[in-house]
Parts: sequence; structure tokens; C-alpha cells
Amino acid sequence: MVRRVTILGSTGSIGRSTLEALDWLGGREAFAVEALTGASNVALLAEQARRCGARLAVTADPARLPELRAALSGSGVETAAGPQAVIEAAARPAEWVMAAIVGAAGLAPTLEAARRGAVVALANKECLVCAGPLFLAAVAEGAATLIPVDSEHSAIFQVLDARAAPERIILTASGGPFRDWTLERMAAVTPARAVQHPNWSMGAKISIDSATMFNKALEMIEARWLFRAEPDQIEVIVHPQSIIHSMVGYADGAVLAQLGPPDMRGAIAYALSWPGRAPTPMERLDFAALSRLDFHAPDPERFPALRLARAALERGGGAGCVLNAAKETALEAFMADRIGFLDMARVVEAALERLDGAPAPAALDDVFALDAETRAMAAELCAERAPVAARA
Ligand code: NAD
Ligand code: MG
Repeated sequence: MVRRVTILGSTGSIGRSTLEALDWLGGREAFAVEALTGASNVALLAEQARRCGARLAVTADPARLPELRAALSGSGVETAAGPQAVIEAAARPAEWVMAAIVGAAGLAPTLEAARRGAVVALANKECLVCAGPLFLAAVAEGAATLIPVDSEHSAIFQVLDARAAPERIILTASGGPFRDWTLERMAAVTPARAVQHPNWSMGAKISIDSATMFNKALEMIEARWLFRAEPDQIEVIVHPQSIIHSMVGYADGAVLAQLGPPDMRGAIAYALSWPGRAPTPMERLDFAALSRLDFHAPDPERFPALRLARAALERGGGAGCVLNAAKETALEAFMADRIGFLDMARVVEAALERLDGAPAPAALDDVFALDAETRAMAAELCAERAPVAARA
């Protein structure tokens, strides 16, 4: 039987890996692509849509619709544009939906797929960070199936034992490109340097989030909701080789881990074949060649993001939404060379303090309002930071 699939964010790093994983697992004989969505790279979107025979291609940017139409003329692929069209793409009847839009922009389309009961392969961690309880309620109401794709959460999902409650969830972190750098060196980091991750090939934003460890901060909050863990059950350990993708500890002291090469196609193929395990050409681990796996505690001085995540977890309510929106705003300011690398955490910390006590969002519109309020305030905080000093 052919399974209908939709990829939200097909032109990104996870989106492209998803198309490869579909080929691994049977290509057009096994899957029919209902919709692909992207944003600015419409040339790639059109090429993908032609190659996999998608029924619909949507760009989030209305200004790019003429270009998309021209690129797909004569192909029979339907086209549409704008944020609402992305949501409508998610509403189309695909049984399996990859949620791989980056940032809070992924929330509304992913919710749409959840509400109609799809199997949602969740790469977009921001859904749970910004709106954990509301997102899970939509999954439950729609009787959707949520399969984590973030490598750490996929690992945890794979080693969860349905018969025993986890005692601890241990997220592994590569530590990013500046794992061993001094604060002085980190202060002078450029966007071009921060985007270079030592182990994983990822989109620009998540690569920089890995360098600040805000990615791990988001993942702590993601784990809190996905696995209904208490904040003090969630631990982070730096593991530079990125071979152990995460671990779960149980009441008897046993710890189960999932291992694999650092390649997101593994977690994506798992989300496609769950509850089974389909064969893939993933590289096999060679333990003799690896010879060792290292671990050390993250440094709270150089990576304040982890402390901020813990504070957000403890505050609850809208703190996850505030942390993410302030982080996205600060990240864009850093990418545009308007603030320094270490300023990103300072902006997030100040935003969390200023918006402490904001009521927990009761509905999705409250999330969007808090997100917008935080972005406006974080933009002011970015503007207040001293201009970026001369960089090495
Ligand atoms: P990316 O930047 O490479 O791709 C993002 C995709 O989202 C692109 O298709 C882009 O066109 C689309 N997009 C961007 N802005 C949009 C908007 N406003 N509206 C609609 N679409 C928009 O990002 P990525 O690295 O593929 O990451 C995607 C998501 O998966 C993120 O939430 C990230 O945290 C998560 N994730 C990624 C990896 C990885 O290895 N890349 C691993 C784990 C989790
Ligand atoms: Mg991850």
C-alpha cells in the first residue's frame, strides 16, 4: 500500500534528508508525496516537487509565487503561497507528515497536521517549547501519533520501556564548535564561524543554537513535554563524539542508550518505519575504530543557555515561549552582525526576567501574542547592547 506523505520545510536540512530517507525506504513505490513546503528557495522546492511527483508545492513567501509557478509550469504540480497556504498543505490528507519548518513559524502548520490525526514526525522542537501543553492537547484530540525526530528525543523514544517509568532522562550534547573555547575567544565569534558544527550537518540557525547550547536548552524543554518528565529528571551531559544520541535511566539503576552515527537520516528513517525497523544503508558503527567515548559536565559559565532553560522549566507557564522568541530574535540579530555571540544569552535572560509572571497561554492565540510581545521587547534589548566590538 502506498503511504501519502507531506514534508513541511522540504528545502531545509531535515527536509532534504527526509526525501533521501523516502528513497531508501522504497521511493515512489512505497510513498506518494502529497505536499512539499518551503520558503525562499523556490528553485529547489520546484525541483524536489518534480522529482518526487508531489501534488502540491507551497512557498511561505507570497512574493515568490510567480517564480514557483514558472518553475513548475507543465508539471501538473499545484502551487500556492503564504503562511495560510502552508497550513492548508498540512491539512491535506497525508498519513505521515514531517514537521521540519525552523522556528515558531512551524507551530501552526504542525498543529494542523496533529489536529487531523496524522502521524507527525516532529523535527520542529519549537512546537513543544512554545506551546507544550496546547500542542499535546491537539495531538490527543486529533488522535495523532507523535514520533520525535530530534536525534536525542528519537533515541529516548527508542529506549523507553513501556513497563517502567524513567527515573532520569540524559540528553547528550556535542558541546558544539566552541566546547573548549575560553569566554574571551567566544566573545569575538562571527556568524560564519558559529555555523560550522563539528559533527552534524544542519541548517544555519540550529547550528548556531548548538554553538551557544541554546539547542540543548530547547531540547530540555522539548523532553519535558514529550516524555512528561519533571525538570529535575532532565540532565545534560557533553559527549563530544555524538555517538550516544541520549539515554534513559530507570529505578533499578540501569541506563539504556541508543547509539548511531551522527546522521539525521537514521532518526527520520526510524520515524518512517516505526513501529518497525526497516533496513537502511546508514553507516554502521565500527567500535574498534571509535575506540573511546568521552563525557563531561557542561560548563554553566560559558553556556548560560542551560541555566536559562532550567529556569524556564521551573517557571513554567509562558516561559518556554518567551525563551524561544527572545532566542530567535537574538539569533537573527547575531546573524545580521548587530549583537555579539555572548549577547544572545544576555538578551534571552533579560527577556525572561522582564516577562516573568506573564500568565500561562490558555489558547494558541495567547502563544502568538506572547511570542510577538517577546520579539518586540527582545528587539529593543538587542538594540540596547553595545555595537559589536572589533572581531578577531
Ligand atoms: P533549515 O533552516 O535547514 O530548514 C528550514 C525549513 O523551514 C526550510 O524548508 C525553510 O524554507 C522553511 N522555513 C523557514 N522559515 C519559514 C517560515 N517562516 N514559514 C514556513 N517555512 C519556513 O532547518 P533544519 O536544520 O532543517 O531544521 C528544521 C527543524 O528541525 C528545526 O526546528 C530544527 O531545530 C529541527 N532539527 C533539525 C536538525 C538538523 O539536523 N538539521 C536536528 C534536529 C532538529
Ligand atoms: Mg537534537
